[in-house]
Amino acid sequence: MLFRSLFLGVLTLSLNASPLCYTQGYGDLITHADDKSIVLKKGLTLPYTTPTQPITWEDKMNEADLAMQVSQSYDQGGVQTPPAYLFDPGRLRYQPFFQALYGNDKKAIEKNLVTISWPTLKGTIKLPVNRIGGVDQKLYAIGQEIAQLPKSDRIWAEGATTYCYRVIKDTHRLSMHSFGIAIDLAPTKTQYWKSESPSETAHIGYHNTMPMSIVRIFEKHGFIWGGRWYHYDTMHFEYRPELLAPACTTQNHL
Ligand SMILES: [Zn+2]
Repeated sequence: MLFRSLFLGVLTLSLNASPLCYTQGYGDLITHADDKSIVLKKGLTLPYTTPTQPITWEDKMNEADLAMQVSQSYDQGGVQTPPAYLFDPGRLRYQPFFQALYGNDKKAIEKNLVTISWPTLKGTIKLPVNRIGGVDQKLYAIGQEIAQLPKSDRIWAEGATTYCYRVIKDTHRLSMHSFGIAIDLAPTKTQYWKSESPSETAHIGYHNTMPMSIVRIFEKHGFIWGGRWYHYDTMHFEYRPELLAPACTTQNHL
């Protein structure tokens, strides 16, 4: 067991920061990526690394670049295990990337929103979702698959909310809900790390009740789950296909 842990640790460290994660993850929305820059289909070029290399965890959260954004390997399809200290694959984000893809400000983002039907135990509700890259179609497909699960699992997909233009609590960074690419489920029954401590670097426990049957459906369609973060947010799923691309995920290496 110890050997397996050490072995996985080495692999996780060695699989970092590949520009290929972006071209594999976003298909034709990104036409080129190398260790200098990525080029979007719409013509925008973004730097792959930025000159300021943050050292502390708090600075990394605020100043991550595209390389850092894929520097922790997401364990797609893995069993539910408490993540290691500060292991938050997907939580380090380069905000200009999401603005370039989904809309630069509230007005531009809202132009890209469409509504999808989301099945619940009491009927269908409508949810606003970004249409860029087909995120709306993917979330619709997820809802249809969850509707096939037993009721004991489906109750965890109730109370769904998606778009809300806002910053992440206690930060200046936009939430992924602001771009219409994230969804929260079962808000009253799930767990959030800040209920233990408001400090990013505190040593906290891990708690989750979200069933893996739901998590795996989301991951199959390009969404990552906040329950795989040290700073757990178990109601939260967001569309981050770069982290589920073959060049980035650990799934092929286990
Ligand atoms: Zn959320």
